[in-house]
Amino acid sequence: MSAQISVIKCNSYEPAVVEQAVRSTINLLGGITCFVKPGSRVLVKPNLLMSKGPEYAITTHPQVVRSVIRILKEINCQVIIGDGPSAWDQYIENVDKVYEVTGIKQVAYDEGVQLVNFFKRRMHDKFPLTSWLDECDYLINLPKFKTHEITLITGAIKNLFGLVSGTYKVELHKNYSQNTEFAKILVDIYQESKPALTIIDGVLAMEGDGPGTSGKPRQLNLLLGGSDCVALDTIMAKIMGIKHQEVLSTKEAAQRGLGEGQFSRIKIKGEDIDKLNVRPFILPQASKINNLPDVLKILLKLLIKYYPYSLRLKCTHCGHCVNICPKKCIMLKKKGIAFNYKQCIACFCCQEACPAVAIGVKKSLLAKLIGL
Ligand code: SF4
Ligand code: SF4
Repeated sequence: MSAQISVIKCNSYEPAVVEQAVRSTINLLGGITCFVKPGSRVLVKPNLLMSKGPEYAITTHPQVVRSVIRILKEINCQVIIGDGPSAWDQYIENVDKVYEVTGIKQVAYDEGVQLVNFFKRRMHDKFPLTSWLDECDYLINLPKFKTHEITLITGAIKNLFGLVSGTYKVELHKNYSQNTEFAKILVDIYQESKPALTIIDGVLAMEGDGPGTSGKPRQLNLLLGGSDCVALDTIMAKIMGIKHQEVLSTKEAAQRGLGEGQFSRIKIKGEDIDKLNVRPFILPQASKINNLPDVLKILLKLLIKYYPYSLRLKCTHCGHCVNICPKKCIMLKKKGIAFNYKQCIACFCCQEACPAVAIGVKKSLLAKLIGL
């Protein structure tokens, strides 16, 4: 298999600049009708992790979403926008508030398109996915270019985790707590949902302890487009300075033959990524354990560990981490929170959900000693 993707410069979120860049991203690949039939019903899924404004680099910028909607409307498509923000739904954070704060509600209103939630579901063998997948002819995937504490990157494949309905995401974290198992679930979701087109918003990207407020925004000025999520994540990793084989979901998807995971077999249109001179991304602290061979990981499982810890002065006592924790091992205290580490599976959902950058990462002594 060989794949082609486009990489386009986009130096700001000025509406006209973004629209032109999104058009180029798609046109270099043959135009929108190569991916979507005119007049069809299309589900557009940005990354709307939490109710934070676009300046935090946590969510897909509304101008990218707007540009894609306009292009679809030009070929008379009916557009539906939606996401399942993190694992919370109505239990932790109000989805409507997420849509409002991220700027997506305004875009939907301006463009006259339907904004939906993912509460209605249909069962796959291991998880429920939003029923909007069945009600639409195509899915367009609009991830944010970010690091991720557990999956290393959150790009084309990881963004599809938001299609899992409601708090079932927490169940999946609990039931598939090993990184290799979780990567398989992500690939199952990719296999099931098959986005027709993916455009990754890497204009303002994120490095460090992503994908939530603990990550650091980083200007990258790029958009990436294509239909092959494996190829897209391979190129995304390459731009970040990561070996793509270290991204377990990319590796798993390539092994299943779901896309092109070999850099040399991916045709890149637009920018020459070797000439971009991107400084390697700062990686999430807990992801460093991924570099160890599986056997070593199992043998040293009890000794090499990463844990969340409370940055008490920053904690606002919102309780999001308590509600989201799949193992129910966080307690609200007078000052900050406390963890029951015996139960903790180091999924870092708590850090991802914390709106106040109040959860840090600490490592075990052995992890420190061997320089992880
Ligand atoms: S405490 Fe945090 S890292 Fe540990 S299981 Fe709960 S959510 Fe996951
Ligand atoms: S640590 Fe973060 S998510 Fe948890 S209660 Fe404090 S502010 Fe809220």
